[in-house]
Amino acid sequence: MTTEEPDTAGAPDSGAGYDETVDVLVVGSGGGGLSAALKADADGLEVLIVEKGAKYGGSTALSGGGIWVPNAPAQRRAGVELNPDEVVAYLKTITGGLVTEQRLRMYVEKAPEMMAFLEERSDWMQFIWKPGYADYYPELEGGSGQGSTINVPPMDTRALGPEENELLEPLALAPKGIWLGPMDLRLFYQVRQNWRGKAVLLKLIWRMVRARIFGDRIVTIGQSLIARLRLALKERNIRLWLDAPMHMLLTDPDGRVTGAVVERDGAQLRIEARRGVILATGGFERDMDRRRAELPEVATDWSFGNPLNVGDGIRAGEKVGAATDLMDESWWFPAVQWPDGRMQFMLNERMMPAQFIVNGAGERFINEAAPYMDFGHAMIEGQRAGTVHIPCWLITDERSWHRYVICGHLPIPKVPFAPVPTGGKVPRTWLESGVVVEAGSWDELAAKIDVPAGTLKATAERFGELARKGHDDDFGRGDSVYDNYYGDPTLPNPNLYPIGKPPYYAFRIVLGDLGTSGGLRTDEYARVLRADDTVIDGLYATGNASAAVMGRSYAGAGATIGPAMTFGYVAAQHCAQREPSETETIESTGGNR
Ligand SMILES: Cc1cc2nc3c(=O)[nH]c(=O)nc-3n(C[C@H](O)[C@H](O)[C@H](O)COP(=O)(O)OP(=O)(O)OC[C@H]3O[C@@H](n4cnc5c(N)ncnc54)[C@H](O)[C@@H]3O)c2cc1C
Repeated sequence: MTTEEPDTAGAPDSGAGYDETVDVLVVGSGGGGLSAALKADADGLEVLIVEKGAKYGGSTALSGGGIWVPNAPAQRRAGVELNPDEVVAYLKTITGGLVTEQRLRMYVEKAPEMMAFLEERSDWMQFIWKPGYADYYPELEGGSGQGSTINVPPMDTRALGPEENELLEPLALAPKGIWLGPMDLRLFYQVRQNWRGKAVLLKLIWRMVRARIFGDRIVTIGQSLIARLRLALKERNIRLWLDAPMHMLLTDPDGRVTGAVVERDGAQLRIEARRGVILATGGFERDMDRRRAELPEVATDWSFGNPLNVGDGIRAGEKVGAATDLMDESWWFPAVQWPDGRMQFMLNERMMPAQFIVNGAGERFINEAAPYMDFGHAMIEGQRAGTVHIPCWLITDERSWHRYVICGHLPIPKVPFAPVPTGGKVPRTWLESGVVVEAGSWDELAAKIDVPAGTLKATAERFGELARKGHDDDFGRGDSVYDNYYGDPTLPNPNLYPIGKPPYYAFRIVLGDLGTSGGLRTDEYARVLRADDTVIDGLYATGNASAAVMGRSYAGAGATIGPAMTFGYVAAQHCAQREPSETETIESTGGNR
């Protein structure tokens, strides 16, 4: 038995015995890790999950909780069935040859199986379909206008008992009692457009009152997903160690991974994993040194991801010979960053009709409503080409401020002590922060955001022409049903309307991300690969610890959690189907190309 060089002082010498033996060691307690653990347990394997943090859930707990699963059981219950070959064709198109067909096919085949398994395994695992939230390229062959995004229902965390306080919470917690179900959000954005939007507002007020009277502690989206997975683990007595970072992998003389060194209560424990180690450690979004080295254009930490995700699993894999791929890639998400560091998505704002986004030259550069990955790529490419695109500026007018939800501001008359900004005026603190700029003319705005005034005016005029005509001939904004989703349904083109009278407002957009998406190369069984495509026996990776099955694209909402859970499931299934500690001649079809 040999070990890799220890990362930490005090790591045990090679050759020592084991402190603990399990069949499968799952590293990380996000969606990928917990799904893997449930499957391994169901297949009769002894499982241990180790989590570095004091709380479980990782980025998955912080997330929107969308899970992209074409042909999910919930879809089938609604009578919708997609042709798997067409879904594979869709994925082939958007991944542009970066990912093997075997991996894509495995995903399309196993994602619904994974979900059916979870539903069957525990009553906590309920999934609902969100019809109408289109795939991100619904017009491509195999894309779906109805979408394949699945969510879990909200739940009350009191059901977790003692584990309630260990559930990872988002950094910016919603005010007590305020929660939006997966179906509420779109209507919420339409609060000024229709009565159903206003009804959501009333629902929110009622929920706040309820929470105060009855002590409800409802969580939704990502937190609900993780809480439910946690409860399912509990039913099966699957062990989860918190505050237990994995420091390195253990290998035998043939290079087979036999376990890992895990720190617990100050001790370095050698854990044997007879069937395999599944790395579900998330990405390296919080390792800014590595990120700068991989992609110099993004030198600032603008990630929404779990603060503990610094790529431990990826590094541990590399040390035992694994290859990596897509390391310059992330799940990009244009965002606003407030002076206290808080990040805020720019999603529905980019679909709002009377707005356009300019680069440092004062020009539009993309369909503003484009999927967030595409928007991020356009920012990076533009920056590389020599024009400032990071940041860029979303420009809108007072009329929009009074009609649409922007950065969480509710366009309703001022409500004293409201938990979110309300009222007709842009909050003074926003203007003082420099993140939002107000101006009485195009010249003034151009000077304040440092773009050429003549070009900005020309861009505004051109945008006005296109908006009056109702078609964006330049970038096709509003042509896709995806664009329309958060647009204004009362307009002929939900995504286009001319900018009106000043004051104008500009919002500073930076290149946020939901996490990195490059990582260890894996094959269709989630087995980790070397550069020559041979398999590192005993080692699996899923989620953001692995190079994305989505390549550099994003199929639809949930396209990161879907694969994390699916390949966690696939890895566990593979562990169950192989002999313990077997040495096999391994042929692989390769991972990402
Ligand atoms: C605000 C936000 C919204 C998002 N919305 C969506 C969405 O709706 N749909 C979607 O598909 N994606 C979404 N994402 C992205 C998605 O959350 C992640 O891509 C996904 O959850 C990654 O899952 P994972 O299991 O790979 O990693 P994670 O969920 O991050 O879990 C990794 C875990 O491993 C632990 N870990 C790390 N190193 C070690 C170590 N050495 N030892 C032990 N444990 C370790 C971490 O602490 C963490 O708990 C969102 C992300 C954010 C931040």
